[in-house]
This record gives sequence, C-alpha cells and structure tokens, in this order.
Amino acid sequence: MVKTMRGQARITESNVQDMLREVRMALLEADVALPVVRDFIARVKERALGAEVANSLTPGQVLVSIVHKELAATMGEGVADLNLATQPPAIILMAGLQGAGKTTTTAKLTRHLIERRKKKVLTVSADVYRPAAIEQLKTVTKQAGGEWFPSSGDQKPRDIALAALDYAKKHFIDVLLVDTAGRLAIDEALMAEIRDLHATLDPVETLFVVDAMQGQDAINTARAFKEALPLTGIVLTKLDGDSRGGAALSVRQITGAPIKFAGVSEKIDGLEVFDAERHAGRVLG
Ligand code: GDP
Repeated sequence: MVKTMRGQARITESNVQDMLREVRMALLEADVALPVVRDFIARVKERALGAEVANSLTPGQVLVSIVHKELAATMGEGVADLNLATQPPAIILMAGLQGAGKTTTTAKLTRHLIERRKKKVLTVSADVYRPAAIEQLKTVTKQAGGEWFPSSGDQKPRDIALAALDYAKKHFIDVLLVDTAGRLAIDEALMAEIRDLHATLDPVETLFVVDAMQGQDAINTARAFKEALPLTGIVLTKLDGDSRGGAALSVRQITGAPIKFAGVSEKIDGLEVFDAERHAGRVLG
C-alpha cells in the first residue's frame, strides 16, 4: 500500500504527508466514511511522528505497521462473544435496516448458541409489516434447530415480545432472539417502535446488523441506530461480497460498540467471530 518514502531515515512532518495520502486513498477505496478516515489519519499521524524507525526498516514500513495496528485496535478489542450473563432467558434484540441480514443472522446466531454454547433458543419476529418475514424466520429457525414463536401482522410488536417472553420463561428457554422490522431507510416510526421494544424487553444484547456492502451510507445508519438504542454489539454481514469492508471501521467508530460477528455466506453456518486483525489487512487491501 505505502510504496513511497523508502530509504528515509525517520518519519518527519514533511515525508509523513505523502505516506498518509496513500493511507487515506486506501481507506476511501475500502469505503470507509470520510469523517472516519479523517479522524483515523489524525491519530495515525500523531503516532507516526513520535515513532522511532529501526535501522532495518524504512519509514514506510513503520507507518504501515502503525496503520495496521491502529486499524485493528479501532475495530476490535479481542474476541467479543455474546453476553448471556443474566437471569434466563437472555434476550437478544436484533436491529438494522431491511435487507441488512437480520433474519438470516438471527438463524445463524440460533445455530451458534445451540452448537457452541449448548443453549435452548427461541426466536420470534416482531415484523408486523411483512408476513413473509415472519414465515422466513420460522423456516430458518427450524433449519438452525431452534424453536420459533408464532406472531402475526395484526399484533403489536410489544405484545408479540411480551407473549414470547412469557412463553420463554415457562419453557425454560435460555436465549430469546427477537427479530425486528426494518425499513429501507431510517424513519422515526421505526426508531420509536424499536425503542419501545427495547424498553419493554430490557435485552442483555442489542445487536446492530449492518451490510458490509453499504459502504459510505453505513455511517448514517449507524448513527441513527446508536442514537435510538444502547447498542451492545455489531454484526457485519455479507463480508463474502467483494467490498473491502471499510464499513467496519465507520460503524465501530460511530457506535463505539464491538463488532462481534461477521456474516460470510447466506447459509446458516456462515457466521464467524469477527477477527479485527484479519479484517485490518482486508481494509488496507
Ligand atoms: P433482513 O431484512 O435484515 O431480515 O435481511 P435478511 O436476513 O432477509 O437478508 C437479506 C438478504 O441478504 C438475503 O438474501 C440473505 O440471504 C442475504 N444475506 C444475509 N446475510 C448474508 C451474508 O453474510 N452473506 C451473504 N452473501 N448474504 C447474506
């Protein structure tokens, strides 16, 4: 990525500019949002100017290493699995725009919780606008080996949530996953509804599901959901697509929530624990 400035003795104010320009280009090409790029570059610059360049290295190599480390540190802080440390049922609220991958991710998490954490899982859909979404959740929950709680378009989302919670308590469910309605764009009614669901359920995890292909727009979506809800984690979907996944950096910085999982296929087992180190390499290209 950084090709210039080989053979320089140290990183100086004058030569760092060229190198940072290349880093900025790489991040923009990866679709990291512009304000996030600016912040990031400022942080890297601060570190780079203070950095010593060992004899065997060029300033370019040192800068690449600083960029990589800073990127990984910004996107992650070790492995962040689901927090289930609460009186069962642990409730997980799924939030995000329509098409982001909420329903698919709900099924993937169901599978993950059953196989990896040996939990008894119930799913429910509070999407009262799209009957097909409720049916979709039923189908994928069955595929994942979980239990599905019925709901319908003539109910209120809050009533659905309470009925599912009541059932979960009576049937000793460990984890209740609540899928919610998304819209194609942010709107106030959607946010009010999901805020109400959050207040009703007091979930231990509120996951923001976001499409890695969303690129620059991810920042606005992330900001709107962060303002509406106390997010506890992010799931970045469609990382199997050909985007460089710069949305990870934008969304992480805007929400402050850890990226917990990455969606890597349409299939039910296409979910990985997010690896910030590896992802940093991808973003830099
Ligand atoms: P929702 O509207 O947020 O519930 O989104 P869906 O779960 O229905 O997903 C929308 C589309 O994205 C579907 O066609 C999914 O198969 C697809 N999808 C979801 N996650 C992934 C992923 O990680 N990789 C790929 N390739 N497709 C995904």
